[in-house]
Amino acid sequence: MKVDIAVPKTRVDFLTYNTSEDLDPGDLVLVPVRKKTKYGIVIKKNSQREVSGIRNVQETLQKEFISSNLLTLYKWMAEYYLTSLGEILKVTLPSKILKKYEFVETKKLEPAKIRAPKPNYFQSIAIKKIAEALDKDAYATFLLHGITGSGKTEVYIRCVEKVINSEGRALVLVPEISMTPLLFKRFEERFHDKVVTIHSTLSGKDRRKIWHAVRDGKYSIVIGPRSTVFIPVPDLKIIIVDEEHDQSYKEHTRMPHYNARDVAVTRCRFENIVAVLGSATPQLESYYNSQTGKYQLLDLKERIDARPLPEIEIIDIREESKPYISPPLQSRIEQTIENGEQAIIFLNRRGFAASLMCPYCGFTARCKFCNLPLVYHKPEKDESASLSCHICGHRSPVRSTCPKCSRATLLYRGAGTQRIEELLRRTLKELNINEENRDSLIVRLDRDSVRLKGNMHNILKAFEQGKAKILLGTQLVTKGFDFHDVTLVGIVNADIVLHLPDFRSGERTFQVLTQVAGRSGRGSKPGKVLIQTYHPEQYGAIFGQLQNYGQFYRNELQLRQELDFPPFSRLILIRFKGTEESSVWKEAKRIHALLQKTGGFEIYGPNRSFYYKIRKHFRVFIVLKLRKDYPHRKLKFLQTYKTSKCLIEIDVDPLDVF
Ligand SMILES: [Zn+2]
Ligand SMILES: [Zn+2]
Repeated sequence: MKVDIAVPKTRVDFLTYNTSEDLDPGDLVLVPVRKKTKYGIVIKKNSQREVSGIRNVQETLQKEFISSNLLTLYKWMAEYYLTSLGEILKVTLPSKILKKYEFVETKKLEPAKIRAPKPNYFQSIAIKKIAEALDKDAYATFLLHGITGSGKTEVYIRCVEKVINSEGRALVLVPEISMTPLLFKRFEERFHDKVVTIHSTLSGKDRRKIWHAVRDGKYSIVIGPRSTVFIPVPDLKIIIVDEEHDQSYKEHTRMPHYNARDVAVTRCRFENIVAVLGSATPQLESYYNSQTGKYQLLDLKERIDARPLPEIEIIDIREESKPYISPPLQSRIEQTIENGEQAIIFLNRRGFAASLMCPYCGFTARCKFCNLPLVYHKPEKDESASLSCHICGHRSPVRSTCPKCSRATLLYRGAGTQRIEELLRRTLKELNINEENRDSLIVRLDRDSVRLKGNMHNILKAFEQGKAKILLGTQLVTKGFDFHDVTLVGIVNADIVLHLPDFRSGERTFQVLTQVAGRSGRGSKPGKVLIQTYHPEQYGAIFGQLQNYGQFYRNELQLRQELDFPPFSRLILIRFKGTEESSVWKEAKRIHALLQKTGGFEIYGPNRSFYYKIRKHFRVFIVLKLRKDYPHRKLKFLQTYKTSKCLIEIDVDPLDVF
């Protein structure tokens, strides 16, 4: 009998082999591929495909390794994301399959005494609606829209509890485990050793062990990041996607550029189970789906214990003498500390200064690989001062004179978290705090400060225990933390969230600022949010809508409709990369011509990417705007398209279009 077998990392959907055994779709086998032996998944028996020099299947490793539902999902992904099944298996299965493994039991936790909070009115309705869907044993997707601090986690926990009580299993996706320690802690406290967590820091071997143990049904609840969406779970009944709007669900760096949230919903459809997407700031497309009946909307309209949302104040920093920490922000911070409360200060840029410029000749230090301004980092702990490229990571030493005109004064332009920390420490000196406590008053949370393992934990702990009064940081501070003494959130420069030329930048700003604002006033005391901006007239509308999702949604949707952008259409971005500028453009134009022949959609470009050069690679892109029901298989020719001088990447439903 001939069988079609998909082999991970191959650029084709399947290869055909001979076998004397009775193999079925989903079986795990070993097959020869050129001079190597690789594992593969049977996708079709009794293949009629004619192949010359057909080879034999070497060994059957495991029958029914992958369920037919998962196989259907993987095939759907290959078609939808315009790639091969081989490329899909590369990301959906572990890189090596363990033939034999022994799983080391994780230590059992002592059952902690948990005061399970009584759900409020809105939580109860949500729990009831999801429970009804679970009872029906059918597909349904819920969008759990809860304002910040409204207790989405408790809804998840109650639903998972119900699933486990009927001997089902649950999958919980989170943006990043280290960012959601609280959610994991809550699950662990409630379900103990029934929970397993897949951390990004696990070694490949441990990850494989967990993968197999989950597949064998050792755990009832699996919590993990993006790639966990593919894991085989027996008797799976529910998939929860927490913070469904989070960008980390999108695979940004390598093909296939899938979105784990969308894959989760599709998986639930194939498995006939329930999906729950939770967010305070749902992605516009998700909310649109909840308005058109594709998803069911569950609204948590109230914060826990009916706490009010924080009050928002806009500060026009053009009129302030000090642009980084304006006098109104400073006095608020001082007042907060004097009251024994805490503040979160947010700035979405790390380092000391955005760039280093010569005031005489205008020279700006730029990355030699990307041609973008380098960010100045001050020396810190064991790191020396450097100019660092935040796009490619290249670092170069800092010179004391201008390389162009040799004069000795270079200007720091713009501020990063390091500079704000320095300013804060200087201004707070005047406060009446004893010397000992002053150093620990501020903690900084950004990618530089958490580089060492364990630092993140220590920083958050210092703040949680109240030793530190100010948590200063980048987007890391916007994640789902729940600090009850935070009464002030200060946004140093709201404009830099918006600076990218993208149709989603308004939405992204709304999300980031609403999330960071939501860290304020989660305890018994009411919260306050101060937003500093250079463009209050331009972005005022967005700031005014913060925490009011409905208003934001209506405005943004109208804009998208006028521009015919998603959710009214679908976008596919095709990116061309290569070190030879002319070859990249040549390829882009060639593909452009092929696309014109294919027809049935609008084509934009080829254009230069916003970051035209990264790591010496030139980047050019084409965007296709398609009707939502456009059959992707018509574009399948792109999948196999590749030249030696130009890499072609396809991004279906891109988050960034530049
Ligand atoms: Zn100069
Ligand atoms: Zn660079």
